[in-house]
Amino acid sequence: MASAKTACPDHAELFRSERYQEIFDRKKAYENAHSPEEVERVLEYTKSLEYQEKNFAREAAAINPLKSCQPLGALYAGIGFADTLPYVHGSQGCASYFRSHFSRHFKEPFPAVSDSMTEDAAVFGGHANMYQGLENAHKLYKPKMIALCTSCMAEVIGDDLSSFTKNAKDQGNIPADFPVACAHTPSFVGSHITGYDAMMVSILETMGEKSDKTHDAINVILGFDTYLGNFHEIRRIFGLFGVEVTILSDPTAMLDSPTDGEYQMYRGGTSLEELKDAPNAKGTIILQKYALPKTAQLIKNKWEQEVKVVNPIGIAGTDELIMAIAELTGKEVPDAITRERGQLIDAIADSYYWIYGKSFAINADPDQAYGITRFILELGGEPRHVLVTNAVKKWEKETQALLAEFPHGEGCQVYPKKDMWHMRSLLFTDPVDFIIGSSHAKYLWRDTRTPLIRFGFPLFDRHHLHRTSTIGYQGGINLLTTIVNTILDEADRASLDSPSFDLVR
Ligand code: SF4
Repeated sequence: MASAKTACPDHAELFRSERYQEIFDRKKAYENAHSPEEVERVLEYTKSLEYQEKNFAREAAAINPLKSCQPLGALYAGIGFADTLPYVHGSQGCASYFRSHFSRHFKEPFPAVSDSMTEDAAVFGGHANMYQGLENAHKLYKPKMIALCTSCMAEVIGDDLSSFTKNAKDQGNIPADFPVACAHTPSFVGSHITGYDAMMVSILETMGEKSDKTHDAINVILGFDTYLGNFHEIRRIFGLFGVEVTILSDPTAMLDSPTDGEYQMYRGGTSLEELKDAPNAKGTIILQKYALPKTAQLIKNKWEQEVKVVNPIGIAGTDELIMAIAELTGKEVPDAITRERGQLIDAIADSYYWIYGKSFAINADPDQAYGITRFILELGGEPRHVLVTNAVKKWEKETQALLAEFPHGEGCQVYPKKDMWHMRSLLFTDPVDFIIGSSHAKYLWRDTRTPLIRFGFPLFDRHHLHRTSTIGYQGGINLLTTIVNTILDEADRASLDSPSFDLVR
């Protein structure tokens, strides 16, 4: 008798079963699909240099761009503040997509509401949705602040968030003194990092209260960073310095909540008191240069604060962070941190001969791509293709300058504003040893069989990677561990049936 397991195959086996194979064959026949030989011929053509040239000449379409919508970033900025409700003025489908995207990455619920605009709102304007939505959200979920952004529909019809919010207050939908930070986040331009920047600017402008009294804390803004371990790492480093830190948008408690039998709409986050007092801090350290240009400008110009922008991935990057803290606070670098630096250098010395000379194709958000490219260079690896969809010209220039600093950066090409389909061509015509990228790059792995080192956002298909840290010297050790152990896994696989299959590597 067949066991229950064979009677109901695992999902991975399900579609190989005879029943589904028959369905697929019938579907192909119904669709008058091309023969397997023709499919194979076209597939081979897509791997050619001739196809690559056509692919790179493409102007009108993006295929698998490495970016998400602006409002997704805006929601992420909002959720890091205490008792704050992220709110999408727009269609419910958009909001569901943002929430499911985060839930798939963090494996946690992501509370955010939408005022569910539909066709009639698109014709007559979304103001009625917003008045009712703000009133309901305020009454039902009792937030202390709402972080309000738009989806494309509201932007296309030109809804004005500030005046709608003002009207909602004037007509009593929400109290007149209730803080609503508004960010216009059209997704037909920019990406999730643009939305994060826009919402951060709005929250800081809405809530910040500049006074004559400064305090000794330092503000840190990590930006669109979905490694929760990085937020803990910043607190730990500041703890070693003995310096108070205000992390502006800290989503860790919200997105790493314990199972304690009780769902809470709001957990942790940067308190609104800290947020209000942030303009009076000694200075601000920003960890994402390309993701937070407007935030950096606001803090410099309006708060008249010293702003240091660093990218604390790898040795040089973490050195920048440590020196920024030391310079802003006038404190000596603690011995414990010097020791950690030495430990990272030692770990690199233990592993570099496996990484030295290996080639890498990198795709990520601009700041992460820059940081990981520099770290690979520090490890003796050879970045070959660095491709970023949501990059600006400055990123391209600065990444090229970085590559020029290292002899093994010479063979690397930088590709701003390109997508994963461009990367696929590159991987066929100029193959590399490893890809570094998010879960989306697993399709490149499948097509090209180039091993993938998962890094960035989103990480849907491996669990708990978002809990680790990638910044600071400790984060460097974590990244090194992931990189070198993936290389070793591949070495083991490649030597499975040879005398080189070894216990010690
Ligand atoms: S691109 Fe626009 S319409 Fe599409 S999900 Fe994003 S916000 Fe919504």
